[in-house]
Amino acid sequence: MEQQIKELERQAQKLETTAQDRKSLINQAADYGENFLSSLSEQPAYVDSESMGKGVYELPFDEKPTDFDQLLNVLKSEVDKPGLNPASGKHTGYIPGGGLYPSAIADYLAAVTNRYTGVFFSSPGAVRIENMCIRWMNDLIGYPDGASGNLTSGGSIANLIGLVVARDDSGIKAEDFNRAVIYTTRQVHHCVVKAVKFAGLREATLRTIPMDDHYRMKTDALEEQIKSDKDEGLIPLTIFASAGTTDLGAVDPLDKIGDIADRHNLWFHVDAAYGGFFLLTDHGKKVMKGIEKSDSATIDPHKGLFLPYGSGALLVKDGEKLYDSQHMSANYLQDTYKATEEASPADLSPELSKHFRGLRMWLPLQLFGVQPFRAALDEKLLLTRYFYDEIQQIEGIEVGPEPELSIAFFRYVPETGDANAFNKKLVDEIHSDGRVFLSSTHLNGMVYLRLAVLNFRTHLEDVDLILSVLKKKIQELGAL
Ligand SMILES: *Cc1c(COP(=O)(O)O)cnc(C)c1O
Repeated sequence: MEQQIKELERQAQKLETTAQDRKSLINQAADYGENFLSSLSEQPAYVDSESMGKGVYELPFDEKPTDFDQLLNVLKSEVDKPGLNPASGKHTGYIPGGGLYPSAIADYLAAVTNRYTGVFFSSPGAVRIENMCIRWMNDLIGYPDGASGNLTSGGSIANLIGLVVARDDSGIKAEDFNRAVIYTTRQVHHCVVKAVKFAGLREATLRTIPMDDHYRMKTDALEEQIKSDKDEGLIPLTIFASAGTTDLGAVDPLDKIGDIADRHNLWFHVDAAYGGFFLLTDHGKKVMKGIEKSDSATIDPHKGLFLPYGSGALLVKDGEKLYDSQHMSANYLQDTYKATEEASPADLSPELSKHFRGLRMWLPLQLFGVQPFRAALDEKLLLTRYFYDEIQQIEGIEVGPEPELSIAFFRYVPETGDANAFNKKLVDEIHSDGRVFLSSTHLNGMVYLRLAVLNFRTHLEDVDLILSVLKKKIQELGAL
């Protein structure tokens, strides 16, 4: 048996790398990253390819190893080429993020050391780093001491946990779920609708409250609806407001909604996945006034803090409520319960083993300081205003309301013919050109294009390029 073990050990040893292997891997990876970043300004924002990355299947997993060189080539041609390029500053579709380089280094370090950040006992320092990130975001929202939270993979999971905490805090029983009511608007992110299902509240009523002409929740209508629901014996459960809707960038009147939630004793959640980090700016603070009245909030560092994908956060004003909803003990974890100075992420979320997500947020904030983030966010707000003013110089352009944050929407109305067909064609043309990327949406039966500025690499020259591409494409399509 010992001989057999030794033989297996010899084969398994290949999983460990030598110092020389590591040097060569990291150098090749660093070169790859460097080539990617140094050519980024020339790379298209979108590549509409025929093969759609099918080449990855040409290298199936095998018993035998494959060279890193060959794999990097596959990454280059099949992964980092086709489709959308979210690292590009010319990506202004959906909600951009970016991918700060120090976060990549943090991910590397987190993976090499593989600290276990589920429980405080196992990696106290790492958990402190995560809790520091959460405290910093709680301060940003304006939550008091005693607030808590969890670093999630993104805003969708944060919203889901938020809804579950609201459900649990209300104390309602499953037999009453069909009488529960959740208040939101039609512009709420669709992950909230999914969360309602995951939270077992499929039979609950999702009320979409009417919006004003800026696509913000009408608070009078909200309060009336809550009252009439109560009169009918329904159970108002939670208000899900948005601080920056994904589609249009609208911020619901949080201050007033907070008062209504208070008057009627409802859980008030703010989905600030997109807009939350604008709280670092004076403008954002004004627009999101009252956000501190909420009971919980979602905020996405992989959006407004420009981190690579994989970073969202749920923040909860009364940390006990998050803990009560999410914690569970297990016999085999009994040794870990003696370390209680700091909250353990596993007690505040459905996750146990997880990536050390805090490091990718902590490192850039430490290395750069907060100031450049604030400046970048102010820059994005101004770039959007600039675009909004400039696009109106093109004859035939019709714009949506003045942007509250960093999303502007508009459409071209041709003198003759179907405007929707024109704008669909316009967005297709922009995608097949690929130099810049914008996405489209529809609103009240009309197709709109939208510009969302949130990549930290988007600057004035990119917005000017977007304007000139738009002008050119409109001319070309109009001339047909
Ligand atoms: C992006 C977004 C979400 C979803 O977050 P993910 O990080 O993509 O899971 C939810 N709500 C709003 C307002 C968003 O912008």
